[in-house]
Order: sequence, then C-alpha cells, then structure tokens
Amino acid sequence: MPAKKTIKSKKPRVAIVSLTSCEGCQFILLDLGERFLKFAEEIELVDFRLIEDMEDDNKKLDLVLVEGNPVTEENIKTLKEARKRAKILAALGNCAAMGGVPEMKNYHEGVNAIKHVYKYIQGINNPEIKEIDNFVKVDFVFPGCPINGEEFLKYIPELLIGKIPIIPDQPVCVKCKKAGNRCLLLDKIPCFGPMILGGCGAVCPSARSQCQGCRGLRPTGNVIAMRAALKNMMSDEQFQNMAEIFGLRDDLEEREKNK
Ligand code: SF4
Ligand code: SF4
Ligand code: SF4
Repeated sequence: MPAKKTIKSKKPRVAIVSLTSCEGCQFILLDLGERFLKFAEEIELVDFRLIEDMEDDNKKLDLVLVEGNPVTEENIKTLKEARKRAKILAALGNCAAMGGVPEMKNYHEGVNAIKHVYKYIQGINNPEIKEIDNFVKVDFVFPGCPINGEEFLKYIPELLIGKIPIIPDQPVCVKCKKAGNRCLLLDKIPCFGPMILGGCGAVCPSARSQCQGCRGLRPTGNVIAMRAALKNMMSDEQFQNMAEIFGLRDDLEEREKNK
C-alpha cells in the first residue's frame, strides 16, 4: 500500500501567546463571535490557550500575537522563543506594548509594592515591569486596554500576508469631534486626547470620561504643548498620576527628553 501523503496547510500559521495578563485582550477576540471564527478558519491557529490547550509543533510561524507582560522567567523564555519562530510579532494591547496597569508599581515602591498583596513572597516572581520590546523586536502594536476588535479585523489581513500596517497618526480628538462631544477641556476636565493615538472611537470622552491614554502617544503628539495646556487644570503630580494608569509616563518622559 502506498504511503499516505500529508497535505501541507497553506494557511498562515498564527499563535496567540498570553504572558502575565488579565486576558482581556484575548476576550475581545472571542467577543467578535462569528467574525473571529471566520478569521480562525483562514489561518492555522497554533496556540490560543483561551480556547484549548493545543499541541504546539514548535515549527515556524507567520504571525505571533503577544498579550500581557513578561513577568516570570518562563514568560520571558516563551516570548523569546516565539520571536525566534515568527516572521512577524505584534503586541496585543497596552500591557504588552506599554507595560499597562502593572507598570504602575515601577513608579512607586517598585518591587516592594508586592508587600501590599502577599504576606509571604518567597517563590513569587516580582521583577520590574517591562514592555515586551525590552526583550524582543516588535513589528506592530494593536493598541488599547483592551484592544479594539474592529481595529483587529481591519489590520490583521495585512499582517497575515507579511505587511506591517500603519495606524493613521490622528488624535482621539478627531473621532470625539465627529461624535459631536463637547470638549472636556472647555469644562476644565483634563483629557489626554490630543496627544493620544486615535482609533478607539473616542469611547471615553464620549462617555464624559477623560482620555487617560491607553492607546499610547501618537507619533507626532506634542507632549510639551499637552502639559502646558493642562497646567491650569491639574498639578504636575496629578498629570503624572494619570500618565501612570496605562504605563504612559515613561514614554512621555522619553519623548520630552528627546524634544
Ligand atoms: S491591555 Fe488591558 S485588557 Fe489587555 S491584557 Fe492588559 S490589562 Fe488586560
Ligand atoms: S474631550 Fe478630549 S478627546 Fe475630546 S476633543 Fe476634547 S481633548 Fe480631544
Ligand atoms: S479614549 Fe483614550 S483612554 Fe479611552 S479608549 Fe481611547 S485612547 Fe484609551
């Protein structure tokens, strides 16, 4: 009897790797429902632990999507191995791209912040929080906390054919104005919208809530002008506190230093 031929899949091989995280960005994918299933049919999904524990063949990958922070030694190893195997590696969300909410501890008590959570800390990994680009090259970022599902569907086709998409350099204000919102700044409510990369549909200011910058600085965002504009609405300390919520503070400091 002739040996059975194995039919090789021509579909792009994709892994969704979750490091230390709340898994909220992965839930956004599942929340796409039928549309996520359609995407899943077009690819060979090698790893997505939210669905099932898949047998990973450790072969090359076309695309790796990384959610969360590299906190444990195992996280760092997983991240580096994923990078070695991947043609393209994209950050999935604010934690992976900017350090996210966990990065807050870096700005205050650092590794000592753990004492407020655990009584006994032996055996617990407790490093400084670092974005994934401190460990590996990152080709693209799906910004936000959590990511935006529509934006995922918009840019994923390009990534699957090996192209790196470019998110338009527009502030959150563009969609905010289009939505007909009264600008919060007019009411002396501080909002980071002008320096933050749009694409979220201005969800926060549309609910009369400040933009706290979860999508990160836009390439031409003027951080010095933003700081000056908010001077009469918040103290430097309040500005810093708001910038710490989504790991924006170190990026702001870096941008200001290089101006
Ligand atoms: S970016 Fe936000 S939603 Fe995504 S893993 Fe981090 S905390 Fe969770
Ligand atoms: S509320 Fe914020 S996002 Fe909206 S226009 Fe004003 S500054 Fe921009
Ligand atoms: S308005 Fe600002 S904080 Fe809110 S989702 Fe958009 S970028 Fe994030």
